[in-house]
Amino acid sequence: MAELKEVLAKYGFSFKKQFGQNFIADGNLLRAIAADAGVDENTTVLEIGPGAGTLTRELSACAKKVVAYEIDRTLQPILDETLADCPNVQVIFGDFAKANLPELEKQLGEYIVVANLPYYVTTPVVMRFAEEAKKCKRLTVMVQEEVAERFCAQAGSSQYGAVTAALARVGECRITRKVSRNLFTPRPNVDSAVVRLDFIPNKIPVLSEKAYRFAVRCAFLNRRKTLENNVMHACRISREQAKELLAQANIEGHVRGETLSPHDLARLSDLLYQQGYIK
Ligand code: SAM
Repeated sequence: MAELKEVLAKYGFSFKKQFGQNFIADGNLLRAIAADAGVDENTTVLEIGPGAGTLTRELSACAKKVVAYEIDRTLQPILDETLADCPNVQVIFGDFAKANLPELEKQLGEYIVVANLPYYVTTPVVMRFAEEAKKCKRLTVMVQEEVAERFCAQAGSSQYGAVTAALARVGECRITRKVSRNLFTPRPNVDSAVVRLDFIPNKIPVLSEKAYRFAVRCAFLNRRKTLENNVMHACRISREQAKELLAQANIEGHVRGETLSPHDLARLSDLLYQQGYIK
C-alpha cells in the first residue's frame, strides 16, 4: 500500500474529529496488533472502523475473512483502492451502534473483534459485546491508556468501576501493549494501549444478567457512600433491610462498592433477583 498520507491526499480526505479518526500506519504496530489478537487462517474478524484500511490489510493477510464496519462514507474510494487486493474483506458502511448484532453474528459465525476504536465509542462498543454478543470469542482493541487500565483494574483499586465489574464477569482482560500517541495521524492528546478480552463461557454464572447489571449499578451508585447506603437508595428500602440483604450475601455493609469482586456482585445479584427486586 502506498504511503497513508499520499492516499489520503489523493482523495482529498480530511480527518473528522467527531468520528475519532486517528489512523495508524506503522507496520510493526499493525503486525503486533494482529499477533496480539491471535488471528490465523481459520479466524473470522469483525473490525470496527477500518479508516484507510491499514489494520484491515494486516488482518486480511492472516485471517480467513474480515468484515469491517465504517461510518464515514468519504472513506469508500480510499478503501476501494487500499483493499483492492484483499478479496477476503467485506466493508459495510454504517454506524456500528445501529448494527443488528444478532443478524451480523448469523453471517459471521464464530468470530473475534479487532479494532483501533474511535475514542468516543470505546466503552459502549466494548459493553455491547460483553452484554449481547453470543459468538464472539475475544476482543482485541486499541483504546486510551487510561480506559485500558480501567478495563483491566483489580477490585479495590481506584480505577475499578462498573465497566471493569461487567467485563470481569464474562472474561479475562489484559493489556498487551502500550502505544505512544506519536504513532497516530493526527496525533491525539493521550497515549493508547491494546487490550485483549478473552470471553470465558459461564465464568461467573448469574441467575439474571439484568440483575447483575443492577447490582453493579448499586455498588457504584455513589462512590463516596457505603454499599449499605447505595443499596438503600437503589432498591428503595430501609437501612435495616439493606443490612439484612447484604448480610445474606455475606458482604459487609460499610464497605465501598468498588471493593466488591465480581463474585461478590454475582451473589448480591442473585439475591436481588430471588427476592424480587429485579423482574
Ligand atoms: N482502523 C483505522 C486505523 O487504525 O488506522 C482507523 C481507526 S480510527 C481510530 C476509528 C475509525 O472508526 C475511523 O475510521 C472512524 O471513521 C470509524 N468510526 C467512528 N465511529 C464509528 C461508528 N459508530 N461505526 C463505525 N465506524 C466508526
